[in-house]
Amino acid sequence: MPVNIAIDGPVGAGKSSISDVVAQRLHILHLDTGAMYRAFGLAMLRQGIDPLNEAEVSAYAGNVTVSVRYENGEQHTYLGGEDVTGQIRTGEVSAAASGASKWPAVRRAMVDAQRRLAATADMLIDGRDIGTNVLPDAPVKIYLTASPEVRAKRRYDQNLAAGDTTPYEQVLEALNLRDQQDMNRATDPLKQAEDAVLVDTSDLNFEESVEEILRIVERVYGK
Ligand code: C5P
Repeated sequence: MPVNIAIDGPVGAGKSSISDVVAQRLHILHLDTGAMYRAFGLAMLRQGIDPLNEAEVSAYAGNVTVSVRYENGEQHTYLGGEDVTGQIRTGEVSAAASGASKWPAVRRAMVDAQRRLAATADMLIDGRDIGTNVLPDAPVKIYLTASPEVRAKRRYDQNLAAGDTTPYEQVLEALNLRDQQDMNRATDPLKQAEDAVLVDTSDLNFEESVEEILRIVERVYGK
């Protein structure tokens, strides 16, 4: 059985960046499932399809192939044959991904692909429904969170460093909206799995968060 570590949590909890480092230290791959929904959201934007229109999104879903490849241990996310890794981190794509990800036709395709990947390699997988739905039998499940204000501040600082000056209040509002959508959708909503360990990083820095997760993994898989 491959090593499977499931990390779920809301927007801006640091899942991607913390998971990257934890996976490196464990010498396993990191699958960022959000990137797959983002690639799908990008496809909807390019096609001019409203991500909230279930009929149109579902009808088109069969034409969209999202896949993941690893180059030097790093995830590259593909839309058909195109590497879209560098194009999926915008606010517009975040909103489209969150909208389109509520539809069962979209989730079925993504979840199937994620399960296939997880069966082939040792992986740390982060997302919203990994512990509850994609890999309900994962030996390690973590629910990573922090207060909305702390998460919004971190996202705001990241944006600033990248030259994006969107005001803090607006960042907080977009984050809350996306969490509401992700937590309240009918299919595979974001919630803590009953057997997941809660890690609240509100008062932890990056390295402390990494160490905390490594300790939880060690309790199951050993050093
Ligand atoms: O994790 P990230 O913020 O990049 O994810 C983008 C969007 O993709 C989320 O807001 C959520 O709607 C969706 N998503 C999901 N299930 C996952 C991962 C992401 O629905 N496992």
